[in-house]
Amino acid sequence: MQTGNVAQTVGQTPLIKIKSLSDATGCEIYGKAEFLNPGGSVKDRAALGIIEAAEHEGLLRPGYTIVEGTAGNTGIGLATIAAQKGYKCVIVMPNNQSQEKYDTLRALGVELVTVPPCPFANENHFYHTAKRIAAERNQSFWADQFENTANYKMHFKTTGPEIWEQTAGEIDAFISAVGTGGTLAGVSKFLKSKDKSIHVRLVDPFGSGLHSYLKTGQLAATGSSITEGIGIMRLTANFKEAVIDDAVQVSDQEMISMLYHLAKHDGVLVGTSAALNVFAAYKYALENKGSGKNIVTVLCDSAVRYQSKVFNQNFLSEKALQPEPLY
Ligand code: PMP
Repeated sequence: MQTGNVAQTVGQTPLIKIKSLSDATGCEIYGKAEFLNPGGSVKDRAALGIIEAAEHEGLLRPGYTIVEGTAGNTGIGLATIAAQKGYKCVIVMPNNQSQEKYDTLRALGVELVTVPPCPFANENHFYHTAKRIAAERNQSFWADQFENTANYKMHFKTTGPEIWEQTAGEIDAFISAVGTGGTLAGVSKFLKSKDKSIHVRLVDPFGSGLHSYLKTGQLAATGSSITEGIGIMRLTANFKEAVIDDAVQVSDQEMISMLYHLAKHDGVLVGTSAALNVFAAYKYALENKGSGKNIVTVLCDSAVRYQSKVFNQNFLSEKALQPEPLY
């Protein structure tokens, strides 16, 4: 019998072949099933990495409270491990994220603080609010997923090597969006250390500045996106470690079409950032049609986290979005 605590079940996720898109493009498109982590997202890895590093450095001790600002998934990752280890959690979130995330966090017993969505420069931004709460409370630890490089290091140590082994080193491209940059930095750095020719592509939603930064050197953005957990207008310490060859933008319409395509044709139920990632992988495959290239992307979280939003017809109608056939 194989047993383990919650923290020990983080990682070692399978690679799912997206058959419909592989058949349509003559490439092999794979998604790393990060939604199978115990907290339901790729952020469980960063949460575990940050907690273990802080314990090791003596910054997090028994009786302490973990404080973090998050779009939700990092909060859920931290809270699952905190529940197991006996830490308390204060989670600060913008108030426009999916209801499922707030409900899950409450079930995990965290103290939830919501703030209006606002630009990073505003002192009430969830990032600054979390930092302030941690400074005000005794025996607290601010996880700081954006600047704490224990985040990308966990992906360098686990996600990157897992992908390398699962593809037997036969990987031609890795494609990912960026929230903190931890996933893209850790995986790209690891894969490039094995084989510099692996193409690394960033995918940005509209309203995020990284695409423009990589193309022109300037952080600039137009439009906005309903995707959650990705897109950023500043360069974080984690992002700065990423080794990137190219960048593309994917629209909400393309993301929604892919979200429903994956459910209907492949039985893959994922969230919005995962659908954005897979659309970018599909785009790359179309550019390399018939080449047989192996393309890997990340299925960051699951559809269950968005039932009240993109899987709700009223929500889609309000946003004037409807799934369209990809081909
Ligand atoms: N997808 C979702 C749903 C997320 O919550 C996040 C993290 N906020 C990401 C993708 C991006 O991951 P990372 O922080 O490693 O860039």
